[in-house]
Amino acid sequence: MRKTRFLAGASIIAAGLLALTACNSGTPGAAPGAEGDSADTTQLWEVASDVSLDGSPTFERMVAADKVVVGVKEDQPGLGFKDPISDERGGFDVEIAQWIAASLGFDADKIEYKTIPSANREQELVNGNIDYYVGTYSITDKRKAQIDFAGPYLITGQGLLVAADNEDITGPNDLAGKIVCSVTGSTPLQRIRDEYNPGDTVEYDTYTQCLEQLRAGSVDAVTTDQAILAGYVAQEPETFKIAGDTFSEERYGVGLPKGDTVLKDHINTLFNDGGDVWTALFDKNLAPAGIKGEQPTADE
Ligand code: GLU
Repeated sequence: MRKTRFLAGASIIAAGLLALTACNSGTPGAAPGAEGDSADTTQLWEVASDVSLDGSPTFERMVAADKVVVGVKEDQPGLGFKDPISDERGGFDVEIAQWIAASLGFDADKIEYKTIPSANREQELVNGNIDYYVGTYSITDKRKAQIDFAGPYLITGQGLLVAADNEDITGPNDLAGKIVCSVTGSTPLQRIRDEYNPGDTVEYDTYTQCLEQLRAGSVDAVTTDQAILAGYVAQEPETFKIAGDTFSEERYGVGLPKGDTVLKDHINTLFNDGGDVWTALFDKNLAPAGIKGEQPTADE
């Protein structure tokens, strides 16, 4: 799917208004994601037994099905990744999803993953096709009209990815006459159109489709969260680089069916009591790409 839209007269908002915690400062280490198998982190937690979550219809559905259906991404190294050779899933978001499942009494082999693109997340939750979603999912009021969020569990911000030899784009105010790619239904696509003034925007279902356009030279920049972009740079530092600082605050939450406050409270307590697990998952999955961050308090 490809759509093109020209923007005229979009207001330009000065970058750097918001404090950001994720940035690509540091030397990227080994590409994250490819090694993110579940085996080595399951020791970080125990699978809970005799769990009861009275008043959670989502938990009831999981128990009846004897499995947890989790929505994730599969092309975001370090966050939500599926190894194309081994089919193994890993990354910070995938392991957060496994940690939640374990706290509900479900071992990793009771998780069924569904890869769901950004634009379809709310609808999949509303339709009851997944029990929860963990995949770079920013908490927004618009989304909260349809679903609930636990968290936030990670804070990052919107950034720009360009070709490693690009010298003209150093931030979102350098986009006049440039073509910028992002993903349908994402907050970065909306923001770059509403608040900045790119020459043109194109949208696809996934960020890897945008990366291919950037590689081919048919777009000048890809925009999404810096935590996602840092994973791509870590994999291909000769080809891509991050241009400038972040220019929004993206607070990642766990997408939940609307009204399941019992499940939301359970996950928020897990996060707020689980600082050691959070740090171990962050250090394993995100720190190697140079991402910096602290655990936010889950308060939604
Ligand atoms: N965090 C942003 C969002 O939720 C961008 C990343 C994504 O598309 O998942 O829209």
